[in-house]
Amino acid sequence: MTIRILPPDVAAKIAAGEVVERPASVVKELVENAIDAGARTIRVEIQGGGKRLIRVMDDGGGIAAEEVPLAFARHATSKLASVEDLSRVMTLGFRGEALASIAAVSQLTLVSRPAAQPAATRIRLEGGQQLALGAAGSPGGTIITVENLFYNVPARLKFLKADATEAAHIHRIVSHYALAYPQIRFALQSDNRLTFQTNGSGELFDTLAAVFDLETARQMILVEYSEPERTGGEEAKRGRDEQNRNEPHFLASSLHVSSPPLSVHGYAGAPALHRGARDQLIFFVNRRWIQDRSLNQAVVQAYHTFLPVGRFPVAVLNIEIDPAEVDVNVHPTKAEVKFRDPREIFKAVQKGVRAAVTAAAPVPAYGGHSPLTYSFAGDFGGHAGDTAPWHTAFGGHSGSGFSQFGFEAQRTLPLPGAAGSEGERQFLESSPSQAMPLMRVVGQIQQMYIVAEGPDGLYLIDQHAAHERVLYEKLTAQKAQAAVARQQMLEPVVVELSPGHAALLEAEWDALTEVGFELEPFGGTTYRLRAVPEMLSRADPARALVDILAEMADGAIPLARETHEKIAITVCKRASIKGGQILSPEEMRELVRQLEATSAPRTCPHGRPTMIHMSAAQLAREFGRV
Ligand code: ADP
Ligand code: MG
Repeated sequence: MTIRILPPDVAAKIAAGEVVERPASVVKELVENAIDAGARTIRVEIQGGGKRLIRVMDDGGGIAAEEVPLAFARHATSKLASVEDLSRVMTLGFRGEALASIAAVSQLTLVSRPAAQPAATRIRLEGGQQLALGAAGSPGGTIITVENLFYNVPARLKFLKADATEAAHIHRIVSHYALAYPQIRFALQSDNRLTFQTNGSGELFDTLAAVFDLETARQMILVEYSEPERTGGEEAKRGRDEQNRNEPHFLASSLHVSSPPLSVHGYAGAPALHRGARDQLIFFVNRRWIQDRSLNQAVVQAYHTFLPVGRFPVAVLNIEIDPAEVDVNVHPTKAEVKFRDPREIFKAVQKGVRAAVTAAAPVPAYGGHSPLTYSFAGDFGGHAGDTAPWHTAFGGHSGSGFSQFGFEAQRTLPLPGAAGSEGERQFLESSPSQAMPLMRVVGQIQQMYIVAEGPDGLYLIDQHAAHERVLYEKLTAQKAQAAVARQQMLEPVVVELSPGHAALLEAEWDALTEVGFELEPFGGTTYRLRAVPEMLSRADPARALVDILAEMADGAIPLARETHEKIAITVCKRASIKGGQILSPEEMRELVRQLEATSAPRTCPHGRPTMIHMSAAQLAREFGRV
């Protein structure tokens, strides 16, 4: 083939592909535009997971009539004038690509009216071609309707997932922006059903309660951290680090090359609040939602020894830095950023979260106390600063979200000698807070629960959840030593997969190999299974593989590094004893003994409890003995 320049419409579609990957990308761009336009209320409506229709309505500044067609030109933006502006960009958009890209791959209608203009302007585009332009009636603000996304890019359309999956991605985008902007009222309506909304009160706590739930929000601890005034230049920086150890404020006042301080604000979960995946570690940089593995790691490390193995904390954090310190122009979707000094950001996040978590760490029971009680002794805030910094920093409303729920009064300073002291820390770090007492098995009920007696009362153990935990830790240990037990097939089993499952298998090849599957391509979507994880050796191997792929395929698509984890959990789930299985006394004793030996015996890998405890005191109370 000879070299040719692509026709403009082909080039436009290719470029659009970088910005618009799926309906959620459209929602992201449109919501960002609404925020940049100063909206106080943003309403998102979707139909068919956003594939059929996406509508974003805002009450922001609108677009002047004469500029409406221009907004759809590529590289047309009102947010940036020069290259230098890039280093101080405070708006979410700046590339001037979103509207052009979205219009190129959909049927789009925009109606917009700046408050000062008597009438709104309406424009209609299909596949990037302007079909209509005229006046229309509308309240102030902007309404953009995107229909039939990718109608002219069948290759992309094919890759879209089920409506529910695409809707879940959209929900994630909207809820994350709601967290970053508690003072904006957000609403999301999916197939005419309101699925999410925030009240725009400006209280991050209210938004946390809307995004997670009230119970989760109540278990979040305020994180408030600022670096002392920072100075420019490596030389000065090293000097500052030296000085900071003794005299944190000395250099800030004596050196003049200073930049705005680095701060980390938000909420992080109390240690009792943990999840099976990292997807609830949410970061913003200057209120732009970003994804960054190393920041995930910073938070996870801050919880070191506070969380059971394989469990992840929950955190919502905004990093406020000088825009010159971060490059947001790394990728067309702007979801990843580059920090000038990533280590410094890492340390600030880790220190901020660690300080908050340590201050709020549970007071462990010394002697006599049931290890199941995981009390916070009312110590929620742990931090001296009492205003909610999120709002202060963002210029929103002041006052803590906690006060509304009466938590303020419960905040206490850590007791002397309690959390934070050296002895206490050693105690915390050496004794797993989740430890399980030795138990005597009494029997089994409903072919599902083991009844056991411990030093303090009655325990009911879920045999399936308990076995999952045992297998999961075994597999994790084997994986860590790269010595996963696998069972070779006498005859390789030929498995024919659906194209979707085959694609998934190719994508997760490493993760599947890591847990013990040994596979070999056998033409098309057919594979030969040569070995399976040993713990699955009694199952029908082909069935097990297909089931695991099916489980991977549905639900939100985990990030690459989580799929390894998810596959391991799924293997354990399949391999473990089910409810409905009668266990002999020996089998029950063995299971309980193995559970005792795990590092987090109280929860299964999915985070559900493995056991329920009724203390002797509770029993006495229930029977009216006290
Ligand atoms: P960018 O956001 O990078 O500037 P976009 O293609 O997303 O590029 O938008 C182009 C321009 O259209 C913006 O710079 C802004 O001036 C205008 N615009 C887009 N959406 C809105 C909106 N909801 N309200 C007001 N102006 C908007
Ligand atoms: Mg934009």
